[in-house]
Amino acid sequence: MKLKLSMALLLCAGFYMANAQQTAKPEDTEVWEPVPKVVTPGKYVEVQPPSDAIILFNGKNLDEWVSTADRDKPADWTISGDILTVNKKGGGNIETKRSFKNYQLHLEWRVPANIAGTGQARGNSGVFLASIGKGDAGYELQVLDSYNNKTYVNGMAGSIYKQFIPLANPTRPPGQWQTYDIVWTAPEFNSDGTLLSPARVTVFFNGVLVENNIALKGPTLYIGQPSYKAHGPAPIKLQAHGDQSAPISYKNIWIREL
Ligand code: MG
Repeated sequence: MKLKLSMALLLCAGFYMANAQQTAKPEDTEVWEPVPKVVTPGKYVEVQPPSDAIILFNGKNLDEWVSTADRDKPADWTISGDILTVNKKGGGNIETKRSFKNYQLHLEWRVPANIAGTGQARGNSGVFLASIGKGDAGYELQVLDSYNNKTYVNGMAGSIYKQFIPLANPTRPPGQWQTYDIVWTAPEFNSDGTLLSPARVTVFFNGVLVENNIALKGPTLYIGQPSYKAHGPAPIKLQAHGDQSAPISYKNIWIREL
């Protein structure tokens, strides 16, 4: 009798936990405070790549990139006047042909001056610092219009999406170029797949430090709590977000392996 009762309790607990997992919502992992202070960055200056950089995009072609959905296919985004623009009409995410471990990455992005929409549906894209699968699998440094655009602060520009809020908000107005300078230290794993050391990232946004050598909790998740799964060197991925606002652009993308 006693045994039966504890079995029933166990079954109940199991059912309850499974149910709680099923009902996890995106809102559960949104953080709205504290709101990072607005900092006016210095004047935009295009930072030219140093001699040992690998040029990932120099305005001419997408030779260094492929489609994330099918790595045998070329990256189907638009190049015009040295600028790369997200193709939201079926272009999908794109990622580098090469894989990287630890690196310094520079890139520039611009939200169109005529951007419409609010919150996450306003100039949303993203830089996945390691792409570990199709779609949005990886570790996302958010790209978003965060100039007078309220959203959850762990989803604004300069955030590690749904993990770390930026230390400041130095976003320039739509229509102006923004710069990201990123130092990425890849996670390390033991031979049995368990985590040896977490990924670490430092980010300068328009020359302002917004992420200071933080240890990530795992790859980005839209819903639920992140956890690590072993992986090796990985491509860098840019996001074609599914919102309806005008597509953003990128330029001057280069990387230095460390
Ligand atoms: Mg994004």
